Amino acid sequence: MPNKAWGLVRENLVARIGKNNYATWIEPLKLTMLKNGVAHFEVPTTFFGNWVSRNFSDHIKSQLNESGQGVERIEFSVMRGAMPELTAANAPVVKPPAKPVSRLSRNDDDLPGAPLDARFTFDSFVVGKPNELAHAAARRVAEGGPVSFNPLFLYGGVGLGKTHLMHAMAHELQARQPQLRVLYLSAEQFMYRFVQALRERQIMDFKEIFRSVDVLMVDDVQFIAGKDSTQEEFFHTFNALVDQNKQIVISADRAPGEIKDLEERIKSRLQCGLVVDLHPTDYELRLGILQQKVEFYRSQYKGLVIAGGVLEFLAHRITTNVRVLEGALTRLFAFASLVGREITLELAQDCLADILRASDRKLTIEEIQRKVAEHYNIRLSDMIGPKRLRNIARPRQVAMYLSKQLTLRSLPEIGRRFGGRDHTTIMHGVKKIEELMATDSQLSDDLLLLRRLLQG
Ligand code: ADP
Ligand code: MG
Repeated sequence: MPNKAWGLVRENLVARIGKNNYATWIEPLKLTMLKNGVAHFEVPTTFFGNWVSRNFSDHIKSQLNESGQGVERIEFSVMRGAMPELTAANAPVVKPPAKPVSRLSRNDDDLPGAPLDARFTFDSFVVGKPNELAHAAARRVAEGGPVSFNPLFLYGGVGLGKTHLMHAMAHELQARQPQLRVLYLSAEQFMYRFVQALRERQIMDFKEIFRSVDVLMVDDVQFIAGKDSTQEEFFHTFNALVDQNKQIVISADRAPGEIKDLEERIKSRLQCGLVVDLHPTDYELRLGILQQKVEFYRSQYKGLVIAGGVLEFLAHRITTNVRVLEGALTRLFAFASLVGREITLELAQDCLADILRASDRKLTIEEIQRKVAEHYNIRLSDMIGPKRLRNIARPRQVAMYLSKQLTLRSLPEIGRRFGGRDHTTIMHGVKKIEELMATDSQLSDDLLLLRRLLQG
């Protein structure tokens, strides 16, 4: 059983090469075969394999031999369906400065909040078109003036900065008014505390604590959808605080009305304040964020050189979300600082092959049709069928529009995939949606959501 042997060897390797190297280079390795003196490993990228082979194969070999495996050679091959995303394990060698964590406030240790990331401040938040509204609203609430919108509801796709903004608000509020009891936690933690309180028969304490804060921030509230008694409790907490005119800040991955299995009364409560969304990043914002991070790394590691065009290349190619973008940069810097090489376009392409490949994934017309059909509750077959009823034809046009916008397919190609329709029909559909979008806010909301779901 190769994996058992490998498990032991891995443990010994930590001691030999250090924790950081281990986490970065050894942990992601998968031993797939051990036969005839050859140990076969799967690695996430070619670069990764070369690196491990050059630097650690002797260690690995001697450890395997010591454990009685009789290994003469080590081979690496790239994993099929390479890794979708950078993981903590394969990212940093030279770690970015440790994430300092601060409790909410020194005298509020009784609050069951989650720790705040000290790096998530307004200063480190890059503002661009897609997030300027959310940023402005967050700033306003963080000033801690009279409660003007309650709750502030921030929503947007993964990795667009919701948590960052919430932490920034908590930091700012606490800095301006140290006496304020600010409680930040995820909806999951809220549920966990609630269940714990139920189990330990301390529900009164639970209620008291949550009703005694000045500012309550609940991250990723979509999590409590479908969890009935947690929702119930959340609703009561929410009302009690609003009644006392205490500020509430909520985040979710979608608009209140779009969260399935969330009670209507909660949805409508959540919509009472200010609802703002973080749009998917655009090229300028991504570039801005990269530039900011580079400044930061430069101050940490003197002598790092990054060739012109690399940041632009990354901002152009990695469009999924900011977290992935950051991970890519971290890995690049880690590598460059280890080998003392300039970060060139070529190096970036090699070192980030897996991330770039994952970002490359092309959206298909079929996926678009499926999501749109789901959203409007019609059958997928109606997308290609002949029905002309408005409640079918309109979603179909939405799918046509999105196909034109989000894929590189030509109108005739799109037509073929919509049951062999003529390209003029597609053009008409696309135009129709463009016209309607200007006046029909429901439709433009639908489109925003669909785009987000498709590109998420
Ligand atoms: P979300 O909570 O929306 O999933 P996060 O707030 O966790 O996203 O953000 C993911 C990462 O991207 C964090 O490291 C955060 O600092 C970073 N990030 C997101 N948006 C920005 C921005 N506008 N400026 C700087 N960093 C950002
Ligand atoms: Mg978050």
